[in-house]
Amino acid sequence: MPDADVIIVGGGLSGLSAAYKLASIGRNVILFERGEYPGSKNVTGGRMYLHAIKKLLNIPVEQMPFERFVTREVVTIMDEFRSFSIELNSYEKGKYQSATVLRAIFDKWFASLAEEKGASIITKTKVDDLYLEDGKVKGVIVANEKITSNIVLVSEGVNSFLPLKLGLRKEFEANYLVTSAKAVIELGEEEIDKRFNLKKGQGMAQIFVGMTKGVTGGGFLYTNRETISIGVVCLLESLVKNKTSIADIFEDFIYHPVLEKILEGGRMLEYSGHLIPVKGYSMIPKLVYDGLLISGDAAGFFLENGPIFRGMDFAIESGSLAAEAIEKALKEGDYSEKKLSIYLDLLNNSFVLKDLKRYKNVPKVMQNERLYKLYPSIINEIFYDFFTVDGTTKPSLISYLKNKTFKHINPIVILKDIVQFLLYS
Ligand SMILES: Cc1cc2nc3c(=O)[nH]c(=O)nc-3n(C[C@H](O)[C@H](O)[C@H](O)COP(=O)(O)OP(=O)(O)OC[C@H]3O[C@@H](n4cnc5c(N)ncnc54)[C@H](O)[C@@H]3O)c2cc1C
Repeated sequence: MPDADVIIVGGGLSGLSAAYKLASIGRNVILFERGEYPGSKNVTGGRMYLHAIKKLLNIPVEQMPFERFVTREVVTIMDEFRSFSIELNSYEKGKYQSATVLRAIFDKWFASLAEEKGASIITKTKVDDLYLEDGKVKGVIVANEKITSNIVLVSEGVNSFLPLKLGLRKEFEANYLVTSAKAVIELGEEEIDKRFNLKKGQGMAQIFVGMTKGVTGGGFLYTNRETISIGVVCLLESLVKNKTSIADIFEDFIYHPVLEKILEGGRMLEYSGHLIPVKGYSMIPKLVYDGLLISGDAAGFFLENGPIFRGMDFAIESGSLAAEAIEKALKEGDYSEKKLSIYLDLLNNSFVLKDLKRYKNVPKVMQNERLYKLYPSIINEIFYDFFTVDGTTKPSLISYLKNKTFKHINPIVILKDIVQFLLYS
């Protein structure tokens, strides 16, 4: 008899979703988490799109430990001294589609729900390897000891090394990964409401572009209840090419005149860094093997679509679908790759692979370096001039564009960028 029906590696949102679902139907589940507690090692921006967690837990989102419900979306295009913002406010009561979240709080709570259902969550324990018999996965190795199960679910996040060892994926290249620097800054609930023009419980998600000095990347700011999460994300390859570091970009960002004002008097509580897989559909590894499945970031399920970052809803849904596939295999006592491939069918019919396929060319559009310096500075200059009245008569729009825009960039290149944007987004 194996030690468990299922062993789950990693207690992030994906592993916890699978543990919750399998334990709810009475399966014997052991989840290993290397952190002190679930959430302790998880870096997220973070705003969670709520649809997947609502479906899985089936309780009102107001009863989940979110920070604030996002009612205000802002996209800010910056240059060295200026910023231009587009804003959407939505106050339809009870129609929240996303919420800000602190993973150290949320994941801990989610783990307690899974434990109530009967899952064994073993923290401060790193899985070192997979245990194989006759080439089939039959468990894991922890501190030189083998712990056996019928099926192993790998949900160990972006640094996932177990599938690499099994040859299910290749080493990531620098243009597959974005690195991040993020801080949590305490401002106090009232001050956040005041500074960001929010009412109690309302939240803001703001994305910044143009502040990375030409490096492919951007910034984010999410309001939590008493703190804000602020950070930058940059493509590793582009940082190397531009001979700079994520720490430098982050520092310049928080000292930008626009941010300095917002952060005034804040106290930094946390600073962390993490990787994000950004190649979307094209970086998905082989997801199924005899006795093994992969979900969440470990499976490359992340989508950056302009100002929209999505990893958490993919992690929850893929963990939940992995649990469904595992349950079918357990019922039939067949843990072969063929049987477990039902997971692929479930993913293909879900928003996870549908959305990743739909936006599979977006990473290519997002890697256009002109989006990160040239276009933001042109946009700011155009709007600055538009709002300037200084006693000089302005030229016609066409001669203005000729002088200001086409001086910096060939109009054919602009046209090509617009066509690429329309075709691939
Ligand atoms: C800066 C930043 C901003 C982001 N912003 C957003 C956002 O706004 N919205 C959004 O939806 N997504 C966002 N994401 C992505 C999101 O955080 C991830 O997609 C999501 O956390 C993936 O969940 P997961 O469960 O697959 O992996 P993780 O949350 O990374 O969990 C993996 C867990 O496995 C554990 N682990 C790893 N290896 C082992 C091992 N060998 N043994 C035992 N335990 C192990 C880790 O400690 C960790 O707890 C952001 C990511 C970053 C870095």
